[in-house]
Amino acid sequence: MLKGIYPGSFDPVTYGHLDVIERSSKLVDELIVGVLNNKAKSPLFSAEERVRMLNEVTKDMPNVTVVPFEGLLVDFARKMDAGLVIRGLRAITDFEYELQMAQTNHKMEPDVETVFLTTSLDYSYLSSTTVKEVAAFGGDISQFVPGIVADLIEEKMNKRRV
Ligand code: ADP
Repeated sequence: MLKGIYPGSFDPVTYGHLDVIERSSKLVDELIVGVLNNKAKSPLFSAEERVRMLNEVTKDMPNVTVVPFEGLLVDFARKMDAGLVIRGLRAITDFEYELQMAQTNHKMEPDVETVFLTTSLDYSYLSSTTVKEVAAFGGDISQFVPGIVADLIEEKMNKRRV
């Protein structure tokens, strides 16, 4: 049985992430979306909130589960008994960092392979950071994130404004 992990911050999940989740869920028997809880960063959404959002938007994908993790990705992969890590590649700017991470991870755990899915053209410009920037200035983010995510971002931004 082929188990894959798609790790990331997903702060928040965008249509770009969802596209990778949908496509990679067809390549493996079981896909674990790993939600990184990085204590050194201050995300807009807590890990619990990000897991909840991802659970909601993947609820119709039976072989997808959402699991939070801390620490090294290779340790998480070992714990989950997953042999494959899936990452999305948007542009050349992603490449250098992703290559370095994949090679470092492979050095630490040769049994875990990283594979990359290139983005769909529709979403190659899209990142969680730009979505947050647009939302912070009151812009319309409905074409970037699912409706329930857009509502939660708006709620968060309103709380920050008061
Ligand atoms: P990070 O893991 O660096 O915190 P994210 O959580 O934003 O980054 O992204 C997780 C993974 O999804 C990464 O592999 C990233 O390249 C990929 N990704 C992000 N946005 C898109 C997009 N629009 N299309 C395809 N892949 C994406």
